[in-house]
Amino acid sequence: MARIAVGGFHHETNTFVTPATDFAYFCSHRDRPPLVRRGEVLKWLSGISFALSGFLDVMDKEHEIVPLLWTSGGAGGMVTRDAYERIAAELIGELSQQMPVDAIYLDLHGAMVSEDFEDGEGELLRRIRACVGPDMPIVISLDYHSNVTHEMTAYTDAISAYHTYPHVDRPETGMRAARTMQHVLKHGRTPGRALRKMPFLIPLHSQCTMVEPSKGIVELTQRLEGDSVISVAYLAGFPPSDLYQCGPCVVVHATTQAAADRAADEAARFIALKEAEFAVPVLAPAEAVARAKEIAAKASRPVLIADTQDNPGAGGSADTTGLLFALVEGGAEGAALGYLCDAEAVQAAHAAGTGADVALKLGGRHGPEGVVPFAGTFRVEALGDGKFRTSGPVSGDRDIDLGPMALLRIGGVKVAVTTKRMQALDQAPFRHLGVEPKEQKILGLKSTVHFRGDFQPIAEDVLVCIAPGGHLADSAKYPYRKLRAGVRLMPLGPDSRGPRS
Ligand SMILES: [Zn+2]
Repeated sequence: MARIAVGGFHHETNTFVTPATDFAYFCSHRDRPPLVRRGEVLKWLSGISFALSGFLDVMDKEHEIVPLLWTSGGAGGMVTRDAYERIAAELIGELSQQMPVDAIYLDLHGAMVSEDFEDGEGELLRRIRACVGPDMPIVISLDYHSNVTHEMTAYTDAISAYHTYPHVDRPETGMRAARTMQHVLKHGRTPGRALRKMPFLIPLHSQCTMVEPSKGIVELTQRLEGDSVISVAYLAGFPPSDLYQCGPCVVVHATTQAAADRAADEAARFIALKEAEFAVPVLAPAEAVARAKEIAAKASRPVLIADTQDNPGAGGSADTTGLLFALVEGGAEGAALGYLCDAEAVQAAHAAGTGADVALKLGGRHGPEGVVPFAGTFRVEALGDGKFRTSGPVSGDRDIDLGPMALLRIGGVKVAVTTKRMQALDQAPFRHLGVEPKEQKILGLKSTVHFRGDFQPIAEDVLVCIAPGGHLADSAKYPYRKLRAGVRLMPLGPDSRGPRS
């Protein structure tokens, strides 16, 4: 029986948006557990849909688990110095108190940038390594959208990454991390490690693993594991994050350096040949609405329009109005849009009551340039307290607290409005407000790919639209200042000019 310290510290940082992500945000219970410590970690994370949940499932009967701290700040602007330093210090302080341990497992995201550190995870692992010394096995799991760095590779002994986007295998990823941990516990630290960064960025809407080329890439990494190769992870990267090592990669840990290099080179060659296949057509909002109406006129199932650039899971504010304007001005009927975050509008709706008409300036408060509130008179169709349980494959069964909610209707368009941000990756928030998604003609969803997990099975068709938002589908438009030179900003696109001040 080994004594294994476990913890988690997630953030997916879009360095091009505000506001910064502060300590209070990490502490709040939203669409995921709040910041939890020691025994509370096991209470909140056991049996749910995070990587740590899967890791515990495999390991907690065989080993002594020492829970440190777990927190997830979701996706958003840069992590404040205060939040990063407090959480890192608490996690490492607790680890230090709990020593000696035999190994460490961390449930990380892999795309965290703080005000001081562009490689948030690499810095965290550097400090942990400094605390525990060179012999301690460290295994981590990462989100598929990780910008893996040489530092993260060097400090660890195995890396397991999600195989899916939409992410429906978080617990399985933790289970795979547990199996690599069992290997490392038996044989000691892994001698071989190799990281290959790809020479192009992949926009999120082209990263879905339900289709090629991502599907085949993930399958290849699974075939490459075994014998001397302990873990092979393909990470598609998170483009809206300005750091030197941004972008997709394959990372391998193996019992020899030669085996690690061989597997990493084979996977990198395979991915390089797929560059031209990462292309998904995108539409302007008005075009998407017109096309959706045409399809919906002959369909019995809803047409989905992904509002890909306002995905709060990629740093979008979830309050942009481009698609809402297009739906209303395009005369859409039987349409529902979700989930638009506007605490003030919800408050006004609750004050007015169900059935009332309220004049509102809805959303559009957080930019980017050109985004304005939608001013109009809305009917308050339904109200909710924002407390419900999700059931879709991406979030699993999870207790949610989005704060008060309201369903507002204008013309043929209903808008599900929340107090806290949540990506439209589950049908539950619509149902909480009495909207049955499969009975709608058109569903506008603030999501890039995750919506496909719960909504694609009920859909007639899926369109991707590019209304203005904080997450740019065309990464060539981001003003990178730190990204290394020579990286193509889109598949087959223009090159990065390299770091500059
Ligand atoms: Zn992700």
